[in-house]
Amino acid sequence: MNHYDVIIIGAGASGMMCAIHAGARGRSILLLDHAAQVGSKIRISGGGRCNFTNSGASAAQYLSNNPHFCKSALSRFPAESFVDMLKKHGIPFVDKSKGQLFCKNSAQDIVTMLKDECDQVGARFELSCEVEKLVHSPGPSARFHLTTNKGEFSSASLCIATGGLSIPKIGATGFGYEIARQFGLRIVELAPALDGFTLNPATTGFRELTGISLDCGVTCRGVSFREALLFTHQGLSGPAALQASLYWRPGDPLFIDFLPMHNTFEWFIRKKKVGNRGTVKNLLAELLPTRLAERLSQTDFSSPVPLPQVSEKTLENFCRKLHEWEITPTGTVGYDKAEVTRGGVDTDELSSKTMECKKVPGLFFIGEVVDVTGWLGGYNLHWAWASGYAAGLSL
Ligand SMILES: Cc1cc2nc3c(=O)[nH]c(=O)nc-3n(C[C@H](O)[C@H](O)[C@H](O)COP(=O)(O)OP(=O)(O)OC[C@H]3O[C@@H](n4cnc5c(N)ncnc54)[C@H](O)[C@@H]3O)c2cc1C
Repeated sequence: MNHYDVIIIGAGASGMMCAIHAGARGRSILLLDHAAQVGSKIRISGGGRCNFTNSGASAAQYLSNNPHFCKSALSRFPAESFVDMLKKHGIPFVDKSKGQLFCKNSAQDIVTMLKDECDQVGARFELSCEVEKLVHSPGPSARFHLTTNKGEFSSASLCIATGGLSIPKIGATGFGYEIARQFGLRIVELAPALDGFTLNPATTGFRELTGISLDCGVTCRGVSFREALLFTHQGLSGPAALQASLYWRPGDPLFIDFLPMHNTFEWFIRKKKVGNRGTVKNLLAELLPTRLAERLSQTDFSSPVPLPQVSEKTLENFCRKLHEWEITPTGTVGYDKAEVTRGGVDTDELSSKTMECKKVPGLFFIGEVVDVTGWLGGYNLHWAWASGYAAGLSL
C-alpha cells in the first residue's frame, strides 16, 4: 500500500510523537526518514541521557517572533503528560536541577518507547528514504505525492518534522525549510543557537583560560542567565554561554558577572580596613581561579601594588568591571556544535492549535523546523512533543 492518510517526514522527536497520536485515532501513517535509524538526535541529547522535558515548561522559556504561538500546544501537552508516558513504560528518570528531567539510564529508553508506541498504532517506517520530489495536487481531495529512492508514496496530509540544521553529521538538513519555500511560506531568519561563542584571543586574552569553568551571570540583550561558564580554546561555552547565544546577534556585546551575588567592592574594602597588604590579583584569587584572577586584574593592576595603596575609586571601578565584563564575540561556533536552530517556519503561517499551514490545508509543520526555540533545560524536546501531539490530534 503506497497511499496513506498521513505521511510524516522525519522520524525524530516530534515526528514519532505525532505518529503515535494520529495513529491512535485510526489514521494510516507512513514515517519516512533519510537516516538509517530513528531518533538520532534524541539519542545524543542531554549527553546521552536526554533532558526530555522541564517540569516548569511554559511559554516564558521560548523565543519566537510570536511569543504567544506556543501557548496552546504547551497547555494541551504539559510536562506531566510526557512523564506519564515514561511511567507507563517503567522508564526511570531523575530531576537533575531546576526541573530538568533526565533519563536515569539512557536516552535510548525514550527512542525505544516512542518506536514501540508507533508500532502499536501500526505506523509504518521507511528509513534510508530520500525524498526526491514533492508534488501537491490542491483541491477538495488534496494529495501529496512523494517520489523517493524507495518508490512513490501519496497521502491526504503531509507533516514536516525534519528538525533544524544543527549537527549535520547525524542527518540534520534544511529539508523542512525548502518545503516551506516551495509552498511560498515565510521563514524567520535561521541561526545556530544554544551554541558556544568564538572570541578573538588577541583582544580578550582569554585563550590561556581554556578549561576554567565557573558559576557566572551572562547578559545578552538585557536577558540574563546564571549558570556555569566554560572557557574553551575557541572562546566561551557552558550553559551560560549557550543560553546567551539564543538572544545574540552579530556585533552584540555580552556582559559577564564573574562574581554573581557577591559584593566584591565591599569585600575588598573590608580587607583594606583590616590592613591586608596583599595585591588585588592575589586577593582576587581567593574568590576566582588564579589564572582568571590574573587575567582580569592585569590591565587595571599591571604592577603588584599592595591593597593599602589602591584608592577606593580605583577599586570601585575595577569591581564594577568584574560584575559586568564586556566582551564582543566574533561569532558562534556554528551548526556543527549548536544544539538548535533559532528561527524557522514563521508561526503566522500556521494554526497554533493544529500546526496546519493556513495557506495549504493538509500540510503541517512541527518541532524545531517551526520558529519556536526553547532555552537549554529540556524545553526544545518538550516543544517537539507538544507540537507533535497538537498535530497528531488534528491530522
Ligand atoms: C547535541 C544535542 C543535544 C541536545 N540535548 C537536548 C536535551 O537534552 N533536551 C532538549 O530539550 N533538547 C535537546 N536538544 C535539542 C533537541 O534534540 C531538538 O530540538 C529536537 O530533537 C527537535 O525535534 P524534531 O522532531 O524537530 O527534530 P529531530 O529530532 O532532529 O528529528 C528530525 C528527523 O528528520 C530527519 N530528517 C532530516 N532531514 C531529512 C530529510 N531531508 N529527509 C528525511 N528525513 C530527514 C532526521 O534524520 C531526523 O530523524 C539537543 C540537540 C543536540 C544537537
